[in-house]
Amino acid sequence: MTTHAAQTAQTVTLPVSLDEAVAALAAMPAAVPVAGGTDLMTAVNSGLLRPAGLVGLGRISEIRGWQYQDGHALLGAGLTHARMGRPDFAALIPALAAAARAAGPPQIRNAGTLGGNIVTAAPTGDALPVLAALEATLIIAGPGGARREIPVSHLLAGMEMLRPSEIVGFVRVPLLHAPQTFLKATGRTGPGRATASAAVVLDPARREVRCAVGAVAPMPLRPLEAERWVAGLIDWDGDRGLPPEACAAFGEYVAAACIPDPPPEMGSPMPEAGGGAEPAALPPAVLHLRRTVAALARRALGRALA
Ligand SMILES: Cc1cc2nc3c(=O)[nH]c(=O)nc-3n(C[C@H](O)[C@H](O)[C@H](O)COP(=O)(O)OP(=O)(O)OC[C@H]3O[C@@H](n4cnc5c(N)ncnc54)[C@H](O)[C@@H]3O)c2cc1C
Repeated sequence: MTTHAAQTAQTVTLPVSLDEAVAALAAMPAAVPVAGGTDLMTAVNSGLLRPAGLVGLGRISEIRGWQYQDGHALLGAGLTHARMGRPDFAALIPALAAAARAAGPPQIRNAGTLGGNIVTAAPTGDALPVLAALEATLIIAGPGGARREIPVSHLLAGMEMLRPSEIVGFVRVPLLHAPQTFLKATGRTGPGRATASAAVVLDPARREVRCAVGAVAPMPLRPLEAERWVAGLIDWDGDRGLPPEACAAFGEYVAAACIPDPPPEMGSPMPEAGGGAEPAALPPAVLHLRRTVAALARRALGRALA
């Protein structure tokens, strides 16, 4: 179905299947896909983007739900934050549901989608640290019915890109059947973009703790050494409990890995032995961010283990 948006004289195509959407993009290379439009239309309205046409993804029912496949959930890219925030989804992937519930005010959560959050790849995208910790992959639809699968982290790191006329169809997420958490700091009351966020997932089958920190760098950061260290402390066959000091040490470890000390200046004196844990050279704002990340990681781990 093709209409013309009166205001901008753009061509708007509304396909009903992924392959139709890919074909529409291939036929109109200057067009861009639009899902909820919460990011895209903001860019259009502010004059940053003038797409020659739009391919709306809102009528593609196959990407608006989820299905089970080999111990994984195949999440449609068109799932809205509001849908992912509901209890049935939270029972499946609790950390992603928590991130969805935190993703902006209700009108944004009603329209904004998982696929849009990933493709926009903003540092403050709330789903992104969760997907990084879950080691999720993307199933991308291309011309001629082609499908390819890449790790979400490769797209976020710029190691792989969407090729012309490709569309993100699904996100494959392992079902871990274990606690997982997402926490976000906004620096204000009520909905807001993250100043820092942390996702922690337990993977008992692999005896792993996986953590990703969002909003402090262009893409979510995985503190791999801290993950391995804390996983080694957990009695996986027992109660999986950890003393509060271990959770606190994990928080510090994560924060130091994600917000490292600046390199020492030439000619600066060696730090004194037994000095404080916080290096004096860190500017106050960075120190505050590091403390925020430490608190988020400590609490996220504590809640996952509780
Ligand atoms: C006021 C406000 C507050 C917000 N607060 C938050 C927040 O707290 N946390 C947060 O994470 N985000 C927030 N956002 C950002 C936004 O709502 C999310 O990133 C949302 O998930 C984007 O989804 P969308 O469907 O609206 O994407 P769209 O705007 O439709 O698309 C975004 C980009 O992705 C592309 N795209 C979309 N779907 C696909 C697909 N399936 N395949 C290929 N390309 C695709 C589009 O071409 C476009 O480039 C906020 C936005 C606003 C305006």
